[in-house]
Amino acid sequence: MKSIKAKEGQIFDIELEEDLLKRNEELARKNRILLDKNKVRAIDVMGSVGSGKTSLIKNLVSRLKARYRLGVVAGDLTTTIDAERIKEEGVEVIQVNTGKECHLDANLIRRALKEFDLGSMDFLLIENVGNLICPAEFPLGSHKRIVVVSVTEGPWMVAKHPYIFSEADLVVINKIDLARAMGVSVKTIGEDIHRVKPGLQAVLTNCLTGEGIEEIIKVLFL
Ligand code: MG
Repeated sequence: MKSIKAKEGQIFDIELEEDLLKRNEELARKNRILLDKNKVRAIDVMGSVGSGKTSLIKNLVSRLKARYRLGVVAGDLTTTIDAERIKEEGVEVIQVNTGKECHLDANLIRRALKEFDLGSMDFLLIENVGNLICPAEFPLGSHKRIVVVSVTEGPWMVAKHPYIFSEADLVVINKIDLARAMGVSVKTIGEDIHRVKPGLQAVLTNCLTGEGIEEIIKVLFL
C-alpha cells in the first residue's frame, strides 16, 4: 500500500509548535510549584468524548469528599454540561471552555488555579477536553495523568493512540459491563497497554456500579 508519513521538520508550523510546547512546559512547571507549595495533588484525566471521564470524576468525588478537600476543573470546548454534573456532588468546579482547542494547556490551568483557594484544598481533579491526541503533548503541571478508555470505543484505541498511553501513569478501562456486547476483549486492550508502556497499570471500571473505583483511589489518592 502506498503511504505518506509526516516527518519532523516537514510539517507546516513546526517551529511555531515547538515554541508553543516549550512555553507550555515552562508554565506546567510553574503550576506544579504552586500546587506543591499549597500541598495540592493534581490529577489530569484524559480520554475521548464519551469514554466516561465525567462519570469517573463524579464517582471519585462522591467517595473522596468526606476524607479530602477537593476541587475540579472541567475542560470542554463550549458547554458546561460536565461541570454541572460534577457540581451535583457539592464540590467547587471551575469550568474552562477552550472554544476550538482540542486540549487544556498549562496557561488555562494557571488561570483556573487562581480561582481556587489552594491553601484549603488537598486534591485537584482536572477533566481534560475529550481527545486522545492533543492533550498528550500539553502537560498541565499535574502530578499524575490518567487515560480513560471505554470498551464502547472499540478494540483499537490503545494501538491507535500509543503516545497518550505512553504519557499516562494509570489507565482506566471503563464500561467493562459492555465488553461482551461490544465484542471487545478487555484482555487484548490490557496487552496493548503493556506493549505501549510495560508496567503501566490498568484498572477495570464500571461507573454505574462503582466497580473498580476503590482500586483507583488506592493507586492515586492514598
Ligand atoms: Mg465529560
